[in-house]
Amino acid sequence: MSTLREDVAAAARRLAHEGLLVGTAGNVSARDGDVVAVTASGVTLAGCRPADVTVVSPAGEVLEGELKPTPELALHLALYAETSAVAVVHTHGPYSTAVACVLDELPVLHYQQLLLGGVIRVAPYATPGSPELAEAVRDALADRRAALMGNHGSVAVGASLEAAVENALLLEWLATLHHRASALGTPRVLTEAEQQAVVGAAVPRGYGTPKPHEEDA
Ligand SMILES: [Zn+2]
Repeated sequence: MSTLREDVAAAARRLAHEGLLVGTAGNVSARDGDVVAVTASGVTLAGCRPADVTVVSPAGEVLEGELKPTPELALHLALYAETSAVAVVHTHGPYSTAVACVLDELPVLHYQQLLLGGVIRVAPYATPGSPELAEAVRDALADRRAALMGNHGSVAVGASLEAAVENALLLEWLATLHHRASALGTPRVLTEAEQQAVVGAAVPRGYGTPKPHEEDA
């Protein structure tokens, strides 16, 4: 369990270093079996230590740690209860949050977005920490590895903590891309056929996973 707390703390520090977690805003969790390790409320995430991570049961009961879990605990627990996610990252990344203040969805401008499942939905705004927010985000995440939260931020999930962190970073990059492309003009969106062609070609090649160079031949 202490390794899980260390891993969550390291992920929080990395996301803070990358500019996605600012001050105490945002939270990170990971599940191992039926325990969840989640960053605590009010912790400065750039300096997150294992002691700043609290271990809870799926019902939210504190099992290990001195600090109160994040106020967004309901969001994390809802995603573990109802999806196969093993890790959840919630950020107020500047570009993701900006997009979530304007758009209803982030269209597919770049094929890398297909790693997150396609068009990224923006969950309607709901009070932070509320069950309504948890429900809206769960719905927006259907068949996706990331979602935006209206006038609030972003959520990324993954089959590992590392994957959830990478998905959060990718979402922020895509939101930045949308912002910059929109400053130049009206971005061209990849058609459904163009997206399907990428998915059809990438799956057999194992796109996005390291592989020996012989397979490229
Ligand atoms: Zn938040």
